[in-house]
Amino acid sequence: MAMDAKGVIELIKAKGIQIVDTRFTDLFGGWQHYSLPASRLTEDMIREGLGFDGSSIKGFQAINESDMLMVPDPSTAFIDPTLSVPTLVLICDIIDPITRQSYSRDPRTVAKKAEAYLKSTGIADTAYFGPEAEFFLFSDVRFGQSANQGFYYIDSPEAVWNTGAEVPGGNKGYRIRHKEGYFPVPPTDTLQDIRSEMILKMMEIGIEIELHHHEVATAGQCEIDMRFDSLVNMADKVQKYKYIVRNVARAHGYSATFMPKPIFGDNGSGMHTHQSLWKDGEPLFFDETQYALLSKTAQYYIGGILKHAPALLAICAPTTNSYRRLVPGFEAPINLVYSMRNRSAAIRIPTYSSSPKARRIEFRAPDAMCNPYLAFAAMMMAGLDGIQNKIEPPPPLDVDIYELSPEEKAGIRGTPGSLNEALDALEQDHEFLLKGGVFTTDLLEAYIDTKRKEAVGLALRPHPYEFMMYYDA
Ligand code: GLU
Ligand code: MG
Ligand code: MG
Repeated sequence: MAMDAKGVIELIKAKGIQIVDTRFTDLFGGWQHYSLPASRLTEDMIREGLGFDGSSIKGFQAINESDMLMVPDPSTAFIDPTLSVPTLVLICDIIDPITRQSYSRDPRTVAKKAEAYLKSTGIADTAYFGPEAEFFLFSDVRFGQSANQGFYYIDSPEAVWNTGAEVPGGNKGYRIRHKEGYFPVPPTDTLQDIRSEMILKMMEIGIEIELHHHEVATAGQCEIDMRFDSLVNMADKVQKYKYIVRNVARAHGYSATFMPKPIFGDNGSGMHTHQSLWKDGEPLFFDETQYALLSKTAQYYIGGILKHAPALLAICAPTTNSYRRLVPGFEAPINLVYSMRNRSAAIRIPTYSSSPKARRIEFRAPDAMCNPYLAFAAMMMAGLDGIQNKIEPPPPLDVDIYELSPEEKAGIRGTPGSLNEALDALEQDHEFLLKGGVFTTDLLEAYIDTKRKEAVGLALRPHPYEFMMYYDA
Protein backbone atom coordinates (compact mmCIF):
# COMPACT_ATOMS: atom_id res chain seq x y z
CA MET A 1 0.00 0.00 0.00
CA ALA A 2 1.22 3.47 -0.81
CA MET A 3 2.69 5.40 2.09
CA ASP A 4 0.48 8.04 3.78
CA ALA A 5 1.29 10.97 6.11
CA LYS A 6 1.21 8.72 9.19
CA GLY A 7 3.55 6.26 7.47
CA VAL A 8 6.06 9.05 6.77
CA ILE A 9 6.22 10.00 10.47
CA GLU A 10 6.63 6.33 11.42
CA LEU A 11 9.38 5.87 8.84
CA ILE A 12 11.25 8.90 10.22
CA LYS A 13 11.23 7.30 13.69
CA ALA A 14 12.05 3.78 12.52
CA LYS A 15 15.02 4.85 10.38
CA GLY A 16 16.47 7.52 12.69
CA ILE A 17 15.91 10.25 10.07
CA GLN A 18 17.24 13.65 11.17
CA ILE A 19 16.39 15.89 8.23
CA VAL A 20 13.37 16.11 5.95
CA ASP A 21 14.03 17.62 2.54
CA THR A 22 11.00 18.81 0.55
CA ARG A 23 11.49 19.15 -3.23
CA PHE A 24 9.53 20.36 -6.22
CA THR A 25 10.33 20.91 -9.89
CA ASP A 26 10.31 24.41 -11.37
CA LEU A 27 8.94 25.23 -14.82
CA PHE A 28 12.24 24.41 -16.54
CA GLY A 29 12.97 21.09 -14.85
CA GLY A 30 15.20 22.23 -11.99
CA TRP A 31 14.75 20.49 -8.64
CA GLN A 32 14.29 23.03 -5.82
CA HIS A 33 14.29 22.21 -2.12
CA TYR A 34 14.49 23.20 1.49
CA SER A 35 15.12 21.17 4.63
CA LEU A 36 13.72 21.04 8.15
CA PRO A 37 14.59 19.07 11.29
CA ALA A 38 12.72 15.78 11.01
CA SER A 39 11.40 16.30 14.55
CA ARG A 40 9.44 19.34 13.34
CA LEU A 41 7.46 17.52 10.67
CA THR A 42 3.87 16.64 11.58
CA GLU A 43 1.12 14.75 9.77
CA ASP A 44 -0.78 18.05 9.47
CA MET A 45 2.17 19.74 7.74
CA ILE A 46 2.26 16.92 5.24
CA ARG A 47 -1.45 17.33 4.55
CA GLU A 48 -1.60 21.14 4.65
CA GLY A 49 1.65 21.95 2.89
CA LEU A 50 4.77 23.99 3.64
CA GLY A 51 5.14 27.64 2.61
CA PHE A 52 7.75 29.09 0.24
CA ASP A 53 8.31 32.25 -1.79
CA GLY A 54 7.14 31.55 -5.34
CA SER A 55 8.43 34.87 -6.69
CA SER A 56 12.05 33.74 -6.46
CA ILE A 57 11.48 30.69 -8.68
CA LYS A 58 12.11 31.26 -12.40
CA GLY A 59 8.82 31.12 -14.32
CA PHE A 60 6.59 31.06 -11.23
CA GLN A 61 4.49 33.75 -9.48
CA ALA A 62 4.66 37.54 -9.64
CA ILE A 63 6.03 39.23 -6.52
CA ASN A 64 2.58 40.46 -5.42
CA GLU A 65 1.20 36.94 -5.17
CA SER A 66 4.30 35.14 -4.05
CA ASP A 67 3.20 32.95 -1.10
CA MET A 68 2.78 29.34 -2.20
CA LEU A 69 2.57 25.94 -0.57
CA MET A 70 4.38 22.74 -1.43
CA VAL A 71 2.35 19.71 -0.43
CA PRO A 72 4.42 16.53 0.04
CA ASP A 73 3.26 13.40 -1.78
CA PRO A 74 3.87 10.77 0.95
CA SER A 75 4.10 7.97 -1.63
CA THR A 76 7.34 9.56 -2.96
CA ALA A 77 9.29 9.36 0.35
CA PHE A 78 12.85 8.06 -0.04
CA ILE A 79 16.06 8.21 1.97
CA ASP A 80 18.63 10.28 0.08
CA PRO A 81 21.42 7.87 -0.91
CA THR A 82 23.99 10.59 -1.58
CA LEU A 83 23.94 12.57 1.70
CA SER A 84 25.77 11.65 4.91
CA VAL A 85 23.17 13.05 7.34
CA PRO A 86 20.12 10.70 7.36
CA THR A 87 17.69 12.66 5.17
CA LEU A 88 14.20 11.77 4.00
CA VAL A 89 13.15 13.37 0.71
CA LEU A 90 9.51 14.14 -0.10
CA ILE A 91 8.49 15.20 -3.61
CA CYS A 92 5.82 17.90 -3.50
CA ASP A 93 2.98 19.35 -5.56
CA ILE A 94 2.33 23.08 -5.47
CA ILE A 95 -0.91 24.75 -4.46
CA ASP A 96 -2.19 28.28 -3.84
CA PRO A 97 -2.58 28.88 -0.07
CA ILE A 98 -5.75 30.98 -0.47
CA THR A 99 -7.77 28.90 -2.93
CA ARG A 100 -5.99 25.59 -2.17
CA GLN A 101 -6.23 24.92 -5.91
CA SER A 102 -3.28 23.26 -7.60
CA TYR A 103 -0.95 25.76 -9.26
CA SER A 104 -1.33 25.81 -13.03
CA ARG A 105 2.43 26.23 -13.62
CA ASP A 106 3.36 23.30 -11.38
CA PRO A 107 4.84 20.75 -13.82
CA ARG A 108 3.98 17.77 -11.61
CA THR A 109 0.36 18.91 -11.55
CA VAL A 110 0.40 19.11 -15.36
CA ALA A 111 1.68 15.53 -15.50
CA LYS A 112 -1.06 14.37 -13.10
CA LYS A 113 -3.71 16.13 -15.18
CA ALA A 114 -2.31 14.41 -18.30
CA GLU A 115 -2.74 11.00 -16.66
CA ALA A 116 -6.31 11.87 -15.64
CA TYR A 117 -7.08 13.13 -19.14
CA LEU A 118 -5.80 9.91 -20.69
CA LYS A 119 -8.21 7.88 -18.54
CA SER A 120 -11.08 10.25 -19.33
CA THR A 121 -10.69 9.63 -23.08
CA GLY A 122 -11.34 5.91 -22.64
CA ILE A 123 -8.56 5.24 -25.20
CA ALA A 124 -6.15 3.87 -22.59
CA ASP A 125 -5.64 3.95 -18.84
CA THR A 126 -1.83 4.00 -18.67
CA ALA A 127 0.96 5.56 -20.71
CA TYR A 128 4.42 4.09 -20.14
CA PHE A 129 7.65 6.01 -20.67
CA GLY A 130 11.21 4.73 -20.90
CA PRO A 131 13.70 7.60 -21.23
CA GLU A 132 17.37 7.07 -22.12
CA ALA A 133 19.11 10.13 -20.72
CA GLU A 134 22.68 10.41 -22.00
CA PHE A 135 25.26 12.62 -20.29
CA PHE A 136 28.95 13.50 -20.27
CA LEU A 137 31.32 13.35 -17.31
CA PHE A 138 34.17 15.86 -17.38
CA SER A 139 36.95 16.00 -14.83
CA ASP A 140 37.98 19.61 -15.22
CA VAL A 141 35.49 21.87 -16.89
CA ARG A 142 35.86 25.60 -16.60
CA PHE A 143 33.42 28.09 -17.91
CA GLY A 144 32.67 31.52 -16.83
CA GLN A 145 30.82 34.69 -17.32
CA SER A 146 33.31 37.41 -18.06
CA ALA A 147 32.04 40.85 -17.09
CA ASN A 148 31.51 42.08 -20.61
CA GLN A 149 30.85 39.03 -22.76
CA GLY A 150 29.34 36.09 -20.91
CA PHE A 151 31.64 33.67 -22.72
CA TYR A 152 31.93 30.11 -21.75
CA TYR A 153 34.80 27.84 -22.45
CA ILE A 154 35.34 24.19 -21.86
CA ASP A 155 38.77 23.07 -20.84
CA SER A 156 38.85 19.50 -19.70
CA PRO A 157 41.29 16.67 -20.39
CA GLU A 158 38.45 14.75 -21.98
CA ALA A 159 37.54 17.61 -24.31
CA VAL A 160 41.16 18.24 -25.26
CA TRP A 161 41.55 14.55 -25.92
CA ASN A 162 38.55 14.74 -28.18
CA THR A 163 40.24 17.33 -30.37
CA GLY A 164 43.29 15.12 -30.74
CA ALA A 165 45.55 17.39 -28.70
CA GLU A 166 47.84 15.91 -26.07
CA VAL A 167 46.40 15.12 -22.67
CA PRO A 168 48.56 16.85 -20.07
CA GLY A 169 49.76 14.45 -17.37
CA GLY A 170 47.70 11.25 -17.66
CA ASN A 171 48.54 7.92 -19.21
CA LYS A 172 48.04 8.14 -22.97
CA GLY A 173 48.11 4.40 -23.64
CA TYR A 174 44.41 3.66 -23.30
CA ARG A 175 42.17 6.01 -25.14
CA ILE A 176 38.82 5.83 -26.84
CA ARG A 177 39.15 6.39 -30.57
CA HIS A 178 37.00 9.07 -32.15
CA LYS A 179 33.34 8.01 -31.96
CA GLU A 180 34.32 4.55 -30.68
CA GLY A 181 33.12 5.00 -27.10
CA TYR A 182 30.37 2.40 -27.67
CA PHE A 183 31.68 0.27 -26.00
CA PRO A 184 35.10 -1.26 -25.20
CA VAL A 185 35.75 -2.66 -21.68
CA PRO A 186 38.03 -1.03 -19.05
CA PRO A 187 40.72 0.23 -18.91
CA THR A 188 39.59 2.01 -22.08
CA ASP A 189 36.26 2.67 -20.39
CA THR A 190 37.42 4.54 -17.29
CA LEU A 191 33.93 5.30 -15.98
CA GLN A 192 32.69 1.76 -15.33
CA ASP A 193 32.80 1.88 -11.52
CA ILE A 194 31.28 5.35 -11.36
CA ARG A 195 28.29 4.30 -13.45
CA SER A 196 27.93 1.14 -11.34
CA GLU A 197 27.89 3.23 -8.18
CA MET A 198 25.24 5.46 -9.77
CA ILE A 199 22.93 2.56 -10.58
CA LEU A 200 23.36 0.98 -7.13
CA LYS A 201 22.24 4.24 -5.55
CA MET A 202 19.33 4.47 -8.00
CA MET A 203 18.28 0.92 -7.13
CA GLU A 204 18.46 1.74 -3.41
CA ILE A 205 15.64 4.23 -3.92
CA GLY A 206 13.44 1.98 -6.00
CA ILE A 207 14.52 2.80 -9.56
CA GLU A 208 14.64 -0.37 -11.63
CA ILE A 209 17.66 -0.37 -13.92
CA GLU A 210 18.01 -2.15 -17.26
CA LEU A 211 21.70 -1.47 -17.97
CA HIS A 212 24.49 1.10 -18.15
CA HIS A 213 27.23 1.66 -20.71
CA HIS A 214 29.68 4.13 -22.22
CA GLU A 215 28.18 5.93 -25.20
CA VAL A 216 29.55 6.61 -28.68
CA ALA A 217 31.24 9.97 -28.06
CA THR A 218 34.96 9.86 -27.52
CA ALA A 219 35.12 11.63 -24.23
CA GLY A 220 33.23 10.40 -21.20
CA GLN A 221 29.73 9.99 -22.62
CA CYS A 222 27.50 7.67 -20.56
CA GLU A 223 24.04 6.20 -20.61
CA ILE A 224 21.99 4.51 -17.90
CA ASP A 225 18.62 3.02 -18.84
CA MET A 226 15.75 2.75 -16.37
CA ARG A 227 12.94 0.26 -16.73
CA PHE A 228 9.79 1.94 -18.07
CA ASP A 229 7.16 3.33 -15.70
CA SER A 230 3.93 5.37 -15.85
CA LEU A 231 4.05 9.10 -16.62
CA VAL A 232 4.27 10.83 -13.21
CA ASN A 233 6.32 8.04 -11.65
CA MET A 234 8.81 8.14 -14.50
CA ALA A 235 9.12 11.92 -14.40
CA ASP A 236 9.85 11.65 -10.64
CA LYS A 237 12.49 9.05 -11.50
CA VAL A 238 14.16 11.29 -14.09
CA GLN A 239 14.58 13.94 -11.38
CA LYS A 240 16.14 11.38 -9.05
CA TYR A 241 18.29 10.04 -11.89
CA LYS A 242 19.84 13.41 -12.72
CA TYR A 243 20.33 14.16 -9.04
CA ILE A 244 22.19 10.91 -8.41
CA VAL A 245 24.25 11.20 -11.60
CA ARG A 246 25.39 14.71 -10.61
CA ASN A 247 26.10 13.89 -6.99
CA VAL A 248 28.02 10.66 -7.63
CA ALA A 249 29.98 12.44 -10.38
CA ARG A 250 30.89 15.19 -7.96
CA ALA A 251 31.98 12.72 -5.28
CA HIS A 252 34.50 11.35 -7.80
CA GLY A 253 35.82 14.74 -8.88
CA TYR A 254 33.78 14.83 -12.09
CA SER A 255 30.90 17.01 -13.12
CA ALA A 256 28.04 15.64 -15.20
CA THR A 257 26.36 17.58 -17.97
CA PHE A 258 23.09 16.81 -19.72
CA MET A 259 23.75 19.61 -22.23
CA PRO A 260 22.79 18.12 -25.59
CA LYS A 261 25.95 19.21 -27.44
CA PRO A 262 28.88 20.08 -25.19
CA ILE A 263 31.50 19.19 -27.81
CA PHE A 264 31.57 20.22 -31.46
CA GLY A 265 32.21 17.38 -33.92
CA ASP A 266 31.26 14.51 -31.62
CA ASN A 267 27.96 12.83 -30.69
CA GLY A 268 25.61 14.81 -28.51
CA SER A 269 23.41 13.60 -25.67
CA GLY A 270 19.76 12.81 -26.24
CA MET A 271 16.96 11.51 -24.12
CA HIS A 272 15.26 9.08 -26.49
CA THR A 273 11.87 8.34 -25.00
CA HIS A 274 10.20 4.95 -25.48
CA GLN A 275 6.43 5.09 -25.08
CA SER A 276 3.34 2.91 -25.27
CA LEU A 277 -0.33 2.94 -24.25
CA TRP A 278 -2.06 0.22 -22.26
CA LYS A 279 -5.65 -0.53 -21.24
CA ASP A 280 -6.83 -3.03 -18.61
CA GLY A 281 -3.30 -4.45 -18.45
CA GLU A 282 -3.15 -5.08 -22.21
CA PRO A 283 -0.74 -3.33 -24.63
CA LEU A 284 -2.45 -1.27 -27.36
CA PHE A 285 0.50 -0.84 -29.76
CA PHE A 286 0.76 -4.43 -31.12
CA ASP A 287 -0.69 -5.88 -34.32
CA GLU A 288 1.20 -8.74 -35.92
CA THR A 289 -0.31 -8.08 -39.36
CA GLN A 290 1.06 -4.53 -39.69
CA TYR A 291 4.39 -2.86 -40.51
CA ALA A 292 6.80 -3.21 -37.57
CA LEU A 293 3.98 -5.06 -35.73
CA LEU A 294 2.43 -1.68 -34.93
CA SER A 295 -1.32 -1.40 -34.36
CA LYS A 296 -3.41 1.28 -36.03
CA THR A 297 -3.54 3.01 -32.61
CA ALA A 298 0.26 3.13 -32.53
CA GLN A 299 0.40 4.45 -36.10
CA TYR A 300 -1.99 7.29 -35.23
CA TYR A 301 0.02 8.01 -32.07
CA ILE A 302 3.09 8.33 -34.30
CA GLY A 303 1.06 10.52 -36.67
CA GLY A 304 0.24 12.86 -33.78
CA ILE A 305 3.82 13.08 -32.54
CA LEU A 306 5.21 13.74 -36.02
CA LYS A 307 2.54 16.31 -36.87
CA HIS A 308 3.14 18.27 -33.67
CA ALA A 309 6.89 17.59 -33.47
CA PRO A 310 8.10 21.16 -34.18
CA ALA A 311 5.89 22.51 -31.35
CA LEU A 312 6.71 19.56 -29.09
CA LEU A 313 10.42 20.23 -29.42
CA ALA A 314 10.03 23.62 -27.76
CA ILE A 315 9.27 21.52 -24.66
CA CYS A 316 11.26 18.32 -25.37
CA ALA A 317 14.47 19.90 -26.78
CA PRO A 318 14.15 23.19 -24.93
CA THR A 319 17.55 24.90 -25.15
CA THR A 320 19.50 26.85 -27.75
CA ASN A 321 22.12 24.09 -27.45
CA SER A 322 19.54 21.38 -28.31
CA TYR A 323 19.62 22.45 -31.98
CA ARG A 324 23.38 22.00 -32.24
CA ARG A 325 22.65 18.31 -31.51
CA LEU A 326 19.84 17.91 -34.08
CA VAL A 327 22.18 17.96 -37.10
CA PRO A 328 23.20 15.23 -39.58
CA GLY A 329 25.93 12.72 -38.82
CA PHE A 330 25.68 12.02 -35.09
CA GLU A 331 22.77 9.54 -34.69
CA ALA A 332 20.51 12.39 -33.64
CA PRO A 333 17.23 12.65 -35.55
CA ILE A 334 16.80 15.25 -38.26
CA ASN A 335 13.88 13.80 -40.24
CA LEU A 336 10.26 13.84 -39.07
CA VAL A 337 9.55 10.28 -40.21
CA TYR A 338 9.41 6.88 -38.55
CA SER A 339 11.49 3.84 -39.29
CA MET A 340 12.55 0.43 -38.00
CA ARG A 341 16.18 1.06 -38.93
CA ASN A 342 17.05 4.63 -39.59
CA ARG A 343 18.62 6.44 -36.64
CA SER A 344 18.20 9.77 -38.38
CA ALA A 345 14.41 9.26 -38.15
CA ALA A 346 12.66 11.09 -35.31
CA ILE A 347 10.78 7.91 -34.41
CA ARG A 348 12.44 4.51 -34.38
CA ILE A 349 10.56 1.25 -33.83
CA PRO A 350 12.83 -1.03 -31.80
CA THR A 351 12.98 -4.52 -33.29
CA TYR A 352 14.87 -6.40 -30.54
CA SER A 353 11.68 -8.18 -29.43
CA SER A 354 8.49 -9.17 -31.25
CA SER A 355 6.46 -9.63 -28.06
CA PRO A 356 3.19 -7.63 -27.84
CA LYS A 357 4.25 -6.18 -24.48
CA ALA A 358 7.52 -4.86 -25.90
CA ARG A 359 5.80 -3.03 -28.76
CA ARG A 360 6.57 0.65 -28.35
CA ILE A 361 7.82 3.66 -30.21
CA GLU A 362 11.09 5.49 -29.53
CA PHE A 363 10.91 9.27 -30.04
CA ARG A 364 14.58 10.27 -30.45
CA ALA A 365 14.39 14.05 -30.62
CA PRO A 366 14.08 14.90 -26.88
CA ASP A 367 17.10 15.67 -24.75
CA ALA A 368 17.55 15.63 -21.00
CA MET A 369 17.43 19.43 -20.65
CA CYS A 370 13.65 19.06 -20.84
CA ASN A 371 11.34 19.18 -17.86
CA PRO A 372 10.31 15.49 -17.77
CA TYR A 373 6.82 16.20 -16.36
CA LEU A 374 6.02 18.64 -19.18
CA ALA A 375 7.81 16.64 -21.88
CA PHE A 376 6.09 13.31 -21.14
CA ALA A 377 2.71 15.04 -20.82
CA ALA A 378 3.20 16.94 -24.10
CA MET A 379 4.31 13.86 -26.05
CA MET A 380 1.34 11.88 -24.78
CA MET A 381 -1.08 14.70 -25.66
CA ALA A 382 0.36 14.82 -29.21
CA GLY A 383 0.01 11.04 -29.56
CA LEU A 384 -3.56 11.13 -28.24
CA ASP A 385 -4.41 13.92 -30.67
CA GLY A 386 -3.17 11.62 -33.43
CA ILE A 387 -5.46 8.82 -32.22
CA GLN A 388 -8.48 11.09 -31.73
CA ASN A 389 -8.12 12.66 -35.18
CA LYS A 390 -6.87 9.52 -36.96
CA ILE A 391 -3.72 11.29 -38.15
CA GLU A 392 -1.88 9.03 -40.61
CA PRO A 393 1.93 9.33 -40.31
CA PRO A 394 3.97 9.69 -43.49
CA PRO A 395 5.00 6.23 -44.83
CA PRO A 396 7.83 4.56 -42.88
CA LEU A 397 11.28 5.17 -44.29
CA ASP A 398 13.80 2.37 -44.00
CA VAL A 399 16.11 3.34 -46.87
CA ASP A 400 19.28 5.34 -46.46
CA ILE A 401 17.98 8.88 -46.73
CA TYR A 402 21.14 10.03 -48.51
CA GLU A 403 20.21 7.74 -51.41
CA LEU A 404 16.83 9.32 -52.04
CA SER A 405 16.25 11.50 -55.08
CA PRO A 406 15.89 15.26 -54.46
CA GLU A 407 12.11 14.96 -55.12
CA GLU A 408 11.75 12.17 -52.56
CA LYS A 409 13.81 14.09 -50.03
CA ALA A 410 11.78 17.25 -50.60
CA GLY A 411 8.69 15.64 -49.09
CA ILE A 412 10.39 14.90 -45.77
CA ARG A 413 9.89 17.44 -42.98
CA GLY A 414 12.89 18.19 -40.80
CA THR A 415 13.31 18.98 -37.11
CA PRO A 416 13.35 22.74 -36.33
CA GLY A 417 16.69 24.47 -36.89
CA SER A 418 16.69 26.54 -33.72
CA LEU A 419 14.97 27.07 -30.39
CA ASN A 420 13.26 30.13 -31.88
CA GLU A 421 11.79 28.04 -34.71
CA ALA A 422 10.46 25.52 -32.18
CA LEU A 423 8.97 28.34 -30.07
CA ASP A 424 7.32 29.81 -33.20
CA ALA A 425 5.80 26.38 -33.82
CA LEU A 426 4.54 26.10 -30.23
CA GLU A 427 2.95 29.56 -30.47
CA GLN A 428 1.07 28.42 -33.60
CA ASP A 429 0.28 24.86 -32.56
CA HIS A 430 -0.74 24.21 -28.94
CA GLU A 431 -4.47 23.42 -28.95
CA PHE A 432 -3.62 19.72 -28.51
CA LEU A 433 -1.91 20.58 -25.20
CA LEU A 434 -4.87 22.53 -23.79
CA LYS A 435 -7.34 19.63 -24.04
CA GLY A 436 -8.76 18.62 -20.66
CA GLY A 437 -7.04 21.69 -19.14
CA VAL A 438 -3.77 19.70 -19.00
CA PHE A 439 -1.60 22.64 -20.08
CA THR A 440 -2.88 26.21 -19.62
CA THR A 441 -2.17 29.24 -21.79
CA ASP A 442 -0.80 30.90 -18.64
CA LEU A 443 1.87 28.20 -18.35
CA LEU A 444 2.70 28.22 -22.07
CA GLU A 445 3.02 32.01 -22.17
CA ALA A 446 5.34 32.10 -19.13
CA TYR A 447 7.36 29.24 -20.61
CA ILE A 448 7.73 30.78 -24.07
CA ASP A 449 8.59 34.16 -22.60
CA THR A 450 11.55 32.79 -20.60
CA LYS A 451 12.76 30.62 -23.50
CA ARG A 452 12.67 33.58 -25.91
CA LYS A 453 14.89 35.47 -23.46
CA GLU A 454 17.40 32.60 -23.52
CA ALA A 455 17.52 32.69 -27.34
CA VAL A 456 17.92 36.47 -27.40
CA GLY A 457 20.55 36.30 -24.65
CA LEU A 458 22.66 34.02 -26.82
CA ALA A 459 22.07 35.90 -30.07
CA LEU A 460 23.26 39.20 -28.53
CA ARG A 461 26.65 37.93 -27.44
CA PRO A 462 29.79 37.79 -29.56
CA HIS A 463 30.74 34.12 -29.85
CA PRO A 464 34.27 32.71 -29.48
CA TYR A 465 33.97 31.16 -32.95
CA GLU A 466 33.34 34.60 -34.42
CA PHE A 467 36.80 35.56 -33.18
CA MET A 468 38.20 32.52 -35.01
CA MET A 469 36.53 33.58 -38.23
CA TYR A 470 36.72 37.34 -38.13
CA TYR A 471 39.17 38.74 -35.60
CA ASP A 472 42.05 39.31 -37.99
CA ALA A 473 40.14 38.97 -41.22
N1 GLU B 1 23.73 10.16 -28.79
C1 GLU B 1 22.76 9.98 -29.85
C2 GLU B 1 21.73 11.12 -29.84
O1 GLU B 1 22.15 12.24 -29.75
C3 GLU B 1 22.05 8.66 -29.77
C4 GLU B 1 22.89 7.42 -29.73
C5 GLU B 1 21.99 6.19 -29.56
O2 GLU B 1 21.43 5.72 -30.55
O3 GLU B 1 21.78 5.80 -28.40
O4 GLU B 1 20.54 10.94 -29.93
MG1 MG C 1 22.18 6.05 -26.40
MG1 MG D 1 17.83 4.80 -27.99
